[in-house]
Amino acid sequence: MGGLTRVERVKVVCPYCSAGCIMSILSSNGRYAGVEYLKGGVNDGALCPKSNDFSFLNSPRRLRKPLKRTESGFKEIEWGEALDLICGRIKDVVASHGPDALAFLLSVKMFNEEAYAWQKLVRLLGTNNLDHECRRMCQFPTLKAGSETMGVGYLTATFEDVAGSEVVLLWGLNAAETFPILMGKYVMRAKENGAKIIVVDPVKTRTAWQANIYVQVRPGTDLVLANSIMNVLITENLYNRRFVEEMVEGFDNVVEIVKDYTPEEASKICGVPAGTIREVAYTLARAEKGSILWSASAVQTWLSTNLCRALYTLAALLGWYGREGCCVGGLKGQNNVDGVIDMGIHPALLPGRVPVSNDDYRKSLASRWGVEDLPKNPGKNIIKLYESIDAGRVRFLYVLGANPAASEANSSYVEEHLRKLDFLVVQDIFLTETARLADIVLPAAAWAEKSGSFTSVERRVQWSFKALEPPGEARSDLEVAVELAKRLGLGDKLPYSTPEEVLREVNGVVKSYGGVTPDRLKESVEGLFIPCPSPDHPGTRLLCVGRFNTPSGKFRARTARYEEPPIKPGPEYPYILVTVRVIGSWHTASMTNNAEYLRERWRGPTALINAVEAAKLGIKDGSKAKIVTGTGELTVTFHVTDKVRRDTIALTWHWGANRLTNHEFKDPDTGVPCVKYVPCRVEVPGGRHG
Ligand code: SF4
Repeated sequence: MGGLTRVERVKVVCPYCSAGCIMSILSSNGRYAGVEYLKGGVNDGALCPKSNDFSFLNSPRRLRKPLKRTESGFKEIEWGEALDLICGRIKDVVASHGPDALAFLLSVKMFNEEAYAWQKLVRLLGTNNLDHECRRMCQFPTLKAGSETMGVGYLTATFEDVAGSEVVLLWGLNAAETFPILMGKYVMRAKENGAKIIVVDPVKTRTAWQANIYVQVRPGTDLVLANSIMNVLITENLYNRRFVEEMVEGFDNVVEIVKDYTPEEASKICGVPAGTIREVAYTLARAEKGSILWSASAVQTWLSTNLCRALYTLAALLGWYGREGCCVGGLKGQNNVDGVIDMGIHPALLPGRVPVSNDDYRKSLASRWGVEDLPKNPGKNIIKLYESIDAGRVRFLYVLGANPAASEANSSYVEEHLRKLDFLVVQDIFLTETARLADIVLPAAAWAEKSGSFTSVERRVQWSFKALEPPGEARSDLEVAVELAKRLGLGDKLPYSTPEEVLREVNGVVKSYGGVTPDRLKESVEGLFIPCPSPDHPGTRLLCVGRFNTPSGKFRARTARYEEPPIKPGPEYPYILVTVRVIGSWHTASMTNNAEYLRERWRGPTALINAVEAAKLGIKDGSKAKIVTGTGELTVTFHVTDKVRRDTIALTWHWGANRLTNHEFKDPDTGVPCVKYVPCRVEVPGGRHG
């Protein structure tokens, strides 16, 4: 008879979306054995389907040993050999082409401590060529527009403020599937307390089911709608005059632009009835306090940054800043986007989000790190990366916890460029689409197999404890950074043996994390909200109280005129393809597709088509057909529905959708590709297409 197996419970922070839910991981003999709910934190015991099944941690497909590409495929090698090979190539490339021929694409799922150590290593190698995937696929337009208008790119308040709102406007945000805890615990609480929920989305999502007002905007024309709502607020004198007079600059310019967007004129472009536009404006104007939140749908078109500027400005016209019950901003899809940028994973920003061009700050950081100076020219961001590979300016790429071959627009283009590199290293937990192209693959420990802190979209920093042992010889990202540094002659600069040591250094470097000490974090159930500049500081839940982070202290109002897209549907590609997400899968599905129950329940790719168009094409519910665009094709299962307009096809993003998207058609302000607006056609087996 065997003895009883001891089950351990350890607190971790969820590795998926940026809500920052906490839970206990159960383990037996160091292996994952399940999840248990934990009181407190943002989720207070609730979890969404993804975090109920972390069985991918035990998957036999996890990487366990370093791999080296040979002519006959991958061969297992020892860590020492793998690290020597990598360091040898780094030295060769630096010697023959200079440090800017190196590039690093790092994960937004890393702990803050890992992110800090990695950016330090990269900068000490002499380059600022380091970036993360979210710049291209996620909220870069939000960060840019937020910095321009408010002086910060963070969410202005917390989910508790959303629950305290009288109106919640969700713009292109299917919170019910992408931020289920926000939807279930906060938006629904606001609604139960009498708040009006307004949902703007071209697809009638599960979130739209809960809306008091659902606005089915024509894909890509959101800016017209936003301008028109502001037109009503201004022309009918419904905006918050006092707030605008005291706290806003640039208002006249907004008045001049939005005057042409009467509801009647706007309706012709965005497809929303004029009466609905007025109803939205009146509902917003009646509320003393409210929230405007947006997500990927708002930030992946050719007008993304302008739309974000308009949404921030709409909130300013309502006076929804710096007060409890008001929360404004874009929600980041991955769990530590804000944290890794705070730590300096950015080609133009040092830790603390200070520009690399700031000589005083850069030099004082350099002296703290024991060198004279650090590279001062901004590095190549991920958007420029492929052009630089083409031109031979980047020859070595290190991809850590990212999967650009699947996550970036136009997968074939990305693959073609990754193959052109002299040397590609991928560090991950599975052999992803990108890892399959690598020269060396390093097995990484997953988040629950190590410890460190994450910063959620609410700016809530929390400690995630080590719950499990990594499989085989998998190592944490921090261990790998330290090992590489030793072999590259930088061992004394990264002398860390624990993440706590790194965080103590961060406390002294990044002002807003000055009080986020390891001890405080480990003791706190709720975490600490940054800015938290000193050990006795309680943290900051509300931003923009009494002044904005701009030179004048005022909000800088911005919007722009709508411009037609350069690529439009036509006879060859008559529909507009938009990509959507589902609750049980995440990102490129490398984790969720390896989780037993999630894989069983959520399979893709699937697409929604309007019933009238389906009848025309002969598509039945559940039948397969091919979606074709200018860059590729994908066979998918169709669902016939009234949830999309006749001109729209909505395709799940997680399973290969980027074979269909176009990397060249992008937001001119940020380079983020328009994966929410891709002209396409549908080909049905047997010949009919449209
Ligand atoms: Fe994780 Fe987000 Fe689900 Fe919370 S809502 S459990 S953070 S995926």
